[in-house]
Amino acid sequence: MPHRDRYEFASDNTAAICPEAWAALAEANQDGVASYGDDRWTKRVCDRVREIFETECESFFVFNGTAANSLSLAQLCRPFHSVLCHEHSHIETDECGAPEFFSGGSKLLRVGGANGKIDLADAADVIARQRELHSPKPHVISVTQSIELGTVYRPNELEAIADFAKERGLLMHMDGARFANAVVSLGCKPREITWERGVDVLSFGGTKNGTAVGELVVFFKRELASEFDYRAKQAAQLASKMRFVAAPWTGLLESDVWLTNARHANDAAKKLAEQLETELVFPCEASALFLRLPNEKVARLHARGWHFYKFIEPDIYRIMCSWSVTDRDIADFAADFVA
Ligand SMILES: *Cc1c(COP(=O)(O)O)cnc(C)c1O
Repeated sequence: MPHRDRYEFASDNTAAICPEAWAALAEANQDGVASYGDDRWTKRVCDRVREIFETECESFFVFNGTAANSLSLAQLCRPFHSVLCHEHSHIETDECGAPEFFSGGSKLLRVGGANGKIDLADAADVIARQRELHSPKPHVISVTQSIELGTVYRPNELEAIADFAKERGLLMHMDGARFANAVVSLGCKPREITWERGVDVLSFGGTKNGTAVGELVVFFKRELASEFDYRAKQAAQLASKMRFVAAPWTGLLESDVWLTNARHANDAAKKLAEQLETELVFPCEASALFLRLPNEKVARLHARGWHFYKFIEPDIYRIMCSWSVTDRDIADFAADFVA
């Protein structure tokens, strides 16, 4: 098949397991002792997460990002609560109602805003339209970092959201499926875009960064984590061989491989943006490009074996880079793109 030698720009979850994560997994395969997270690998990850965020946080593994988001929201909400989120957020568009399901009914309230960022004037309007006890009570605001549309929130933008949340008594959740890409894009410390900016709980992604499976739910306030272990177990998210989920994470987090991988993906997206010489729909601030493309051009690229898909109707396509894309892949795609 000619497709085999084409890099997959469809998503970053098409990438392989990165070498450091793979090596740590192989090392963990020499052990064979404690189960259900009672192992040295899981402890190392939780300790390293505290170091990275420079605070006493509580971390839990779940299998994927949908579980991380929906269980953390369920943890913050009661069934009659609601969650403000961007209309293009993954929790709203890509999780099959899991946040509503696991929370037992908490409704997602869609907010607009340019470049995938929550517009606070719109958020205020959405809240004003809630009809006291006839509508679910707004209780959480959820932001994504880096954002689904390839952009990032600046610390001051998060600060404004945190102030808004505080004024209205909302808790703050961050979907960090691509958190690393935001950290390198901003050149900031992880704490500067999380708990110092009011984030209460973070879904911290590793899969798109270079592991096979397993995301972390990180609580920055210990009291919010109460009994989360039971919630995760009931939701079928407790791995009995947790060490094999945790070990690859040690490969990412030790020696800052997670940041190296994210930097590689972000730099690749920048290079691609330069070589395609075409207008971008959203600013390229992380690892994805969004382009308006006519059907014929898409058909031609697909016929040449390039995979990527339409993200927003009628004609906006996403090109996503990962830790594993090479300069050669970029040059080959660019050559076919401009041909
Ligand atoms: C990929 C992704 C997730 C997680 O998706 P899963 O398929 O459930 O692992 C969550 N949020 C965003 C923004 C994503 O891109």
